Amino acid sequence: MNVNELFDPSRRRRLVLKRGRERAVANRHPWIFTGAIADESGPAGAALADLVDERGQVLASGLYSPHSQIRLRALTFGDVPLTAELLRERITAAIGRRKNLFDAATNAGRLLHAEGDDLSGLVVDRYNDVLVVEIANYGLEQLRPLLVETLKNAAAPRLIYFKNDLPARRLEQLTLESEWDGGGDPAATISESSLRFVVEPAEGQKTGFFLDQRENRRLARTLAGGARVLNLFSYSGAFGVYAAAGGASSVVNVDVSEKAIELARTNHELNALSNNVTFVAADAFDYVRRRAAAGEAFDFVVCDPPAFAKSRGEVERAARGYKDINLYALRLVAPGGLLMTFSCSGHLSLDLFQKVIFSAAHDAGRQVSFVRRLTAAPDHPVSLYCPEGEYLKGFLLEVR
Ligand code: SAH
Repeated sequence: MNVNELFDPSRRRRLVLKRGRERAVANRHPWIFTGAIADESGPAGAALADLVDERGQVLASGLYSPHSQIRLRALTFGDVPLTAELLRERITAAIGRRKNLFDAATNAGRLLHAEGDDLSGLVVDRYNDVLVVEIANYGLEQLRPLLVETLKNAAAPRLIYFKNDLPARRLEQLTLESEWDGGGDPAATISESSLRFVVEPAEGQKTGFFLDQRENRRLARTLAGGARVLNLFSYSGAFGVYAAAGGASSVVNVDVSEKAIELARTNHELNALSNNVTFVAADAFDYVRRRAAAGEAFDFVVCDPPAFAKSRGEVERAARGYKDINLYALRLVAPGGLLMTFSCSGHLSLDLFQKVIFSAAHDAGRQVSFVRRLTAAPDHPVSLYCPEGEYLKGFLLEVR
């Protein structure tokens, strides 16, 4: 079937909003849950759906899922018609908004950030000449030909790689095997701020690289001169490479994964930096305890752990994890040094994260000031109508 036909009114699912649920739609939140829907009709395997009120007035249109609790990912509201052209324009416009991100020094960035670019369910990352796509929704999967065509026109990649490993895809009953359009190896060597990194989308975490930390890495580079740097949860070693490029006197990268440590080593070597750099495959919680017990000190500690809270129910346990690692990280900071600390748990609020850091600082018996609040890079915008999109939060702290 031609992808344009999926937009035909006869091919769309029709969802009737429950009385009393008008608020969610009026506030333009893109997620319409099953609990808000009174009745459904039309083709069961539709890619798209219209949400209507009791009188049949269209309230929103978007991507349909018969499997997810999010029945509709709204893309338009009110009487704005959802057309193939509108989707193409949205994708092209999002890529256009990034034009100043790319230059001779940087050829990697997020081209499309789901709700933040009014395209719920879709993430597209650029790694040099490779695009890595994550589709989280049943309806959107059917629109793949449109995505491929538009991405080719707007970004001319060598390869479009569909990673297909999001947990949501299992729920949506979509394939978990990766797929691609184009040729060659999905691995790419990228430039970021004139530094080089190997990105392996097929094996790497997320789409292969933590693009959201770009601005924070740049900040780290400016702060690392002459410092003894500890990079906890180093993954690709990117913070470590920036710190070394910024003139750190030494850098220690710690990650529990041997593969991550190998990648960090590769990336360090790729940049031909001559700093004193070490790579430690160890559990960060154990490592900081051992270093603290040995009375060691660092001038600049970066702490960027994985999301400890993957669901709301895990927030309390996650908070204990953040408290623990930050307590020891703070103990390791030499007087007058810096701690750059993050949480990428969407379920843990900024407010709670700040309380956790307060509690860690208090227990460590250190005087601590905020130097800066940190967030994701600007190619990761957050829709005002969908604040759930804000996950990365961090603080740069001065530790006395
Ligand atoms: N700071 C990195 C991203 C970190 S992702 C960057 O800028 O690219 C989180 C990393 O933490 C992963 O590489 C994972 O292997 C590692 N990790 C998870 N649990 C860990 C633990 N207990 N100790 C050390 N590393 C851990």
